[in-house]
Amino acid sequence: MVSYTELVKKQREFFLSGGTADIAGRKKRIETLKTLLTTHKKEIDDAIFADLHRSSFSDVDYTLMEVEGVLKNIEEWNAPRKMPVSGPQLSADSDSLYIVPEPLGVVLVISPWNFPLTTSAPLVHALAAGNTVILKPSELDPTFSSLFAKLVAKYFDEKEFTVVEGAAPETTELLKERFDHILYTGCPPVAKIIMAAAAKHLTPVTLELGGKNPVVVDESADLSLLAQGIVYAKLLNAGQICICADYIVTTPSMKPKVIAALSTAFNSLGDMSKVKENARIVNDRHFQRLISLLQKTKGKVVYKAGGEISQAEKFIPVHLIDVDAEDEFMQEEVFGPLLPILTLPSFDAAVQYIKRNEKPLASYFYTANDEQATRFIKETSSGGVTVNGVMSHAFAPGAPFGGVGNSGTGRLNGKFSFDNFSHEKPVCLRAGLTYKHNL
Ligand code: NAD
Repeated sequence: MVSYTELVKKQREFFLSGGTADIAGRKKRIETLKTLLTTHKKEIDDAIFADLHRSSFSDVDYTLMEVEGVLKNIEEWNAPRKMPVSGPQLSADSDSLYIVPEPLGVVLVISPWNFPLTTSAPLVHALAAGNTVILKPSELDPTFSSLFAKLVAKYFDEKEFTVVEGAAPETTELLKERFDHILYTGCPPVAKIIMAAAAKHLTPVTLELGGKNPVVVDESADLSLLAQGIVYAKLLNAGQICICADYIVTTPSMKPKVIAALSTAFNSLGDMSKVKENARIVNDRHFQRLISLLQKTKGKVVYKAGGEISQAEKFIPVHLIDVDAEDEFMQEEVFGPLLPILTLPSFDAAVQYIKRNEKPLASYFYTANDEQATRFIKETSSGGVTVNGVMSHAFAPGAPFGGVGNSGTGRLNGKFSFDNFSHEKPVCLRAGLTYKHNL
């Protein structure tokens, strides 16, 4: 059994002794990660397939894209930014102002099972910013977790980057240690445990969470676009995605048209259990959770896609369920191939409903009307919005990714991830001195 105290001490000692200070050394670490990922791409992709039966998205490709972005920008991101000198006490002739990014120390990254490497990818930025990293992947991806732990141990010294495997008991022990930053990706109830543990050491946290992501469909919506977006969202990892369409909100007159459009689109796939890209439910507990929603709902199943529910295969075809706001389906994030449809009298009622519930990670609106789209963006709060599509804002390079309120705190993606794991230190040098970054 690893002593977490020893491990954290070892990483902190390496950090404090200047082991991560050198930018060339940080770059070398990222190059090593690139070698690990390219050399073992097939093994890693296969391990994720063994855990999730997902083949339509490569976590390795995504992470390599982040690695390339870091390698391209690492010098620039780490460089001090010169600021204009102004203010009554400063002189532009003899004073200089900079923002100097500095690393935080020992970073803990705790990841979920649905995209095990993609959600861990910000560790690349944590290393680039000069931190050491301990990654704790989800125990629900045992094949990936044990393979990645072995590979990281082969390529890295544990004082700079290591993987700790385990479930809640191990994570509880790990969280007793003092970290300098924690990135947690998962669900809000566990996030409260993480935040409480971090508070004991005043450790800052980034929380990437989930929530109920609405898809509002107004009277002018192009239903072929809606069908395209929903099929894409529900096929990718069988709807087990934080930014998936969680429920549809529409008006009484649009409801039959929405159901017809979605039914036609899913019918065209035939038996969903035979669609190669379609993932399975991750484990029996989540399978039972989804089945229990179908059993407890007071709503009506208005459509079932092709293929039969199979416990052995952990397969559930897409279902559309006509529900009201009190229904079981409307209480928690669905996180699967089931899609409730809530009917409200108007667009205004939909906006009010979204505003008066927890802020979602993503929200979606299908409309042909610019003004309605603008109102939706201004009047509702969520981590991000796509109009006439699903998930597109989250894949935009250079855009921040993160939640708000109950769906999370902090921003990730590219430079935002680098900043997340850095302290931006304002520095003023007076009496003619300048900052020697390359010293
Ligand atoms: P989870 O919260 O159950 O688990 C995530 C991690 O927390 C795992 O590593 C797990 O071992 C650990 N954990 C679980 N219980 C714990 C406890 N009591 N104490 C300490 N650690 C504990 O989440 P999950 O089921 O793996 O993932 C699904 C959730 O993650 C969904 O809500 C989804 O929306 C969200 N998610 C968010 C993002 C994002 O980027 N915002 C991405 C993917 C998933």
